[in-house]
Amino acid sequence: MAKPILGGIDAGGTAFKCAVADSAGHILQKTSIPTGAPEATLAACVAWFRAQCKAQKSELAGLGIASFGPVDIDPGSKSYGTILATPKEGWSNISLYDYFAHALNVPVVIDTDVNGALAAEAKWGGAIGAHSAAYVTIGTGIGAGFMVDGSFIGKPTHPEFGHIFLQRHKEDEGFSGICAFHGDCLEGLASASAFAKRYGNPEELPDNHKGWHIEAFYLAQACLAITMSFRMEKIILGGGLMQAPHLLGLVQENYVRLINGYLDMTLEKARRLIIAAQLGSEAGLKGGILLGLTGQDQQKGKSHAG
Ligand code: ZN
Repeated sequence: MAKPILGGIDAGGTAFKCAVADSAGHILQKTSIPTGAPEATLAACVAWFRAQCKAQKSELAGLGIASFGPVDIDPGSKSYGTILATPKEGWSNISLYDYFAHALNVPVVIDTDVNGALAAEAKWGGAIGAHSAAYVTIGTGIGAGFMVDGSFIGKPTHPEFGHIFLQRHKEDEGFSGICAFHGDCLEGLASASAFAKRYGNPEELPDNHKGWHIEAFYLAQACLAITMSFRMEKIILGGGLMQAPHLLGLVQENYVRLINGYLDMTLEKARRLIIAAQLGSEAGLKGGILLGLTGQDQQKGKSHAG
């Protein structure tokens, strides 16, 4: 039997990205399974992991899942690893933990997609060496993770930063927002879904379209809220909408304009503070693998103790 391998899942609203990795976290194989009905999606993931184990002549030593939320991430809870009330049809009360732990007979560790991505950025990406860092994803929804000296803020649950309220852009006052709960919270105004609802496909918009300026105004306020609350050393922006290469610069410029000289903030400093996810679209998947590593270590700890 070859060395055991680790499994990682970036469980997203659009796709479940799965990977197997060696014990150092290097990805050996990966795939992407579109997120459909829960049973079919999860079964397809399990089938893929089984096929990988067979192909690698190995077995999984741990599986980590960086999941979309809201999700129960309290290991002490009976519903650990369960998707909570979500607008995503059919997914409320689905237990990722139970499903994968039973189907694959492996230690499973679950955290939020943003905590996973942040852990991966701290180990391999843009937050190496930082004492504190935030990771904000701007995708179908908006979420954020906050890490201080290796620990996440908000445990045993997780922050809901996507639902903070913002000052409205004057040219955006007619839009009521898309959050099912709040309408025009951060997610309701600035998620990729909210952006597409007003302006269509972001890939087809010119760089100087006013939608980008309105978006940057909101994301800069989000970064400002992070600075004023926590003074994080790094604010990492990831997720689908940040794939637009000019958006980051607009956010940095708006941030400096809004902070208006406070904290001695300059554009140069803002460019070091607010950065793009260095692991790009793999941040969540690598986060899943890191969580898988934690699961493997916990298991080892248990067997040593026993
Ligand atoms: Zn909201």
